[in-house]
Amino acid sequence: MHLFDVAIVGGGPAGSSCAASCAVAGLRTLVLDREKFPREKVCGDCLNPSCWPVFERLELTERVRDLPHSKLSSVEFIAIDGRKVIVDFPSGAGCEISVKRSLLDDLLLNRAGELGADVHEQTTATGLSENGHWKIETASGEFFQARILIGADGRNSTVAHLCNLLPRPARERVALQAHIPLPHAFGNRIVLQFLREGYSGQAPVNEAQLNLCLVGTPPTISKLRRWAERQFQLPADQGWRTITPLTRSPVASAHENLFFVGDAARVVEPFTGEGIYYALRSGELAAKAVAKIVRGENRQLALRNFTRAYSGMYRGRLWINRLAREAVLRPQLGSLFVHAARIRPEIIKFLTAKIVEKL
Ligand SMILES: Cc1cc2nc3c(=O)[nH]c(=O)nc-3n(C[C@H](O)[C@H](O)[C@H](O)COP(=O)(O)OP(=O)(O)OC[C@H]3O[C@@H](n4cnc5c(N)ncnc54)[C@H](O)[C@@H]3O)c2cc1C
Repeated sequence: MHLFDVAIVGGGPAGSSCAASCAVAGLRTLVLDREKFPREKVCGDCLNPSCWPVFERLELTERVRDLPHSKLSSVEFIAIDGRKVIVDFPSGAGCEISVKRSLLDDLLLNRAGELGADVHEQTTATGLSENGHWKIETASGEFFQARILIGADGRNSTVAHLCNLLPRPARERVALQAHIPLPHAFGNRIVLQFLREGYSGQAPVNEAQLNLCLVGTPPTISKLRRWAERQFQLPADQGWRTITPLTRSPVASAHENLFFVGDAARVVEPFTGEGIYYALRSGELAAKAVAKIVRGENRQLALRNFTRAYSGMYRGRLWINRLAREAVLRPQLGSLFVHAARIRPEIIKFLTAKIVEKL
């Protein structure tokens, strides 16, 4: 059986950026994803400006710009009672855009393949054993071997589960998402709307479609769906994608010969729209450490440097995400914040600028 230097389970942004960077470093790189790409994914489809430097390093900037997308010029926060506050985004080449995940993730996974990664779609990892190197079993009974394993398989990571590292599922919220016809004159704004039962995120993804996300709890999500049906005149048989949990405890990202990247390691509150950036960047950082380990450099030093860089990625940003989480868990509180921001807009402008600043 062929021995890969690194096997990456999951070909989303985290797995693809990791695979692309590993392949560039000359590693024999395997990627397994259970889906056939292009595929959609529950997401707000918004790309934080911090993603651009990663796209540049992957030599993908122009190809991302060529995808159908919307340039987002502002975010509008709406309180439960309908009062609003609008914050403008920075404009220019490195601005916030929205792209459907089917398009973005397909581009990223193809790039990993182009750079030399061995990509297997419709291949679900179901079993793992470790005996000097990793043996990965798939749903169809195939086996793959690799020296280092990366869990890039999202918030419900099978790799973390099989390694007994996945935190016990808490009673958490659930999200629904759909692409619906773009309402007339919607504009190039993101809408973040507090509702009694949770919140809704809305963003145009091209000239014809709106990404609509609803976040609530299992008992309230059907109320939110009915609200959306009324608000956007959706048919009762509107199809929705769904995901849970919205957040969970993190899994340590670096182990001896095992790494977790993207949502598999840490799931942040989606309200601030940063998950794709953390996925892309953590994938790159892990690839750097893996390349050093495979080349025979000091493993402990590589792991320490990775852990430092990984924590640094969140520094100065995670507290805002936590604040947002408090606001969305109590929509009344979030609404009060919108009311306050109408009187003192500098606070919400400061927080938004911290999130959309390009790193
Ligand atoms: C409601 C909502 C809105 C969001 N909005 C935004 C936003 O606007 N902007 C933003 O930046 N982030 C947003 N996020 C977060 C973002 O979607 C994630 O952070 C991002 O997708 C993480 O990427 P990833 O590569 O780690 O995982 P994923 O994108 O989840 O990719 C994991 C991959 O692993 C594969 N996989 C899973 N299990 C297996 C297995 N056993 N074997 C093989 N393959 C497997 C899956 O098929 C998938 O392709 C949102 C999240 C939610 C829930």
